[in-house]
Amino acid sequence: MRQYQTKETKEIKKIICNKCGREIKAVNGRPEKGVFSVDQTWGYFSNKDGERHSFDLCESCYDELLKTFLIPAEIKE
Ligand SMILES: [Zn+2]
Repeated sequence: MRQYQTKETKEIKKIICNKCGREIKAVNGRPEKGVFSVDQTWGYFSNKDGERHSFDLCESCYDELLKTFLIPAEIKE
């Protein structure tokens, strides 16, 4: 005899860019396009001690963000 329990699973349906609101569909929990995801917990020496910040950017908003850098991001292939 076997007894089963029902498990609830969560899967990403879509990701919405926090900057421009563009929707990126996900198939089987995976985004169809590149997404820049941030999940940052600020530490004691910041002004946001203990705060957790998270957001997602679409690729074009990410590119715009990088253009604002004085020192370019390191990019390796
Ligand atoms: Zn965007």
